[in-house]
Amino acid sequence: MNNNNKPKNLFDELCKDYRFKEGFHTCINCGTCTAICPAAEFYKYDPRKIVSIVQTRDDQQIEELLKSDTIWYCGECMSCVTRCPRKNGPGLVIIALRDLSARLGYFTESEKGRQLLPLTHIMTGNILNYGYCVHPKSFKWEDHKESGPVWKWHTEHLEQSLARQGANYMGDGPGILRKIPQESLDELKAIFDVTGGTERIAIVEKYSKLKAEEMGMDMEEYEKQAFEYCSDKHFNH
Ligand code: SF4
Ligand code: SF4
Repeated sequence: MNNNNKPKNLFDELCKDYRFKEGFHTCINCGTCTAICPAAEFYKYDPRKIVSIVQTRDDQQIEELLKSDTIWYCGECMSCVTRCPRKNGPGLVIIALRDLSARLGYFTESEKGRQLLPLTHIMTGNILNYGYCVHPKSFKWEDHKESGPVWKWHTEHLEQSLARQGANYMGDGPGILRKIPQESLDELKAIFDVTGGTERIAIVEKYSKLKAEEMGMDMEEYEKQAFEYCSDKHFNH
């Protein structure tokens, strides 16, 4: 996908991000970050290589990285930050790379990047509609069959099950999973508006729509495939 908004220099653009400034110093390629990284255990993933590529300052290599699956494997646990002898934060560098990939629409070029659309809809939908990042009302067991029969029973008997766990599900007053007042939800929406969250949702939707057209799909089909499809090329085992 061509992008007319591409900045003159991708490395310089990354340097404007405070997370990049915080997480990127001289890397000695020791591999300590990869050794501690839980994502590297499961995915074909190596945070040392990511920092090493960024360190080249080579625009073409950085663009390939922004369009790849690689930057979406990180779980942002920040274990790497605690171990790097040069005080780098590969996890922070990856947040900056993801942000740039989203802004430029490069995320649509990779299978894992395309998952940004359903993830954005689910997470922001939960936050703006219910005031929670994850909420039972938007969790469908059919979409997560790996969670097993106990979880199936839980979703089918939600109120009963949550009451047993002491939650105040969608109730007034305090308690876990309480109903968030509309006034607070309106404040959340205002925060999204002034901090760029609303704009980010629109950008993700815009580039996803373009990619869906390129792939010959309508938006519903595209989002379903992005949510459900997972090739086996990502994994170590
Ligand atoms: S631990 Fe730090 S210095 Fe070592 S490879 Fe990772 S980022 Fe580079
Ligand atoms: S923040 Fe990402 S790169 Fe760092 S250890 Fe965690 S999963 Fe690995």
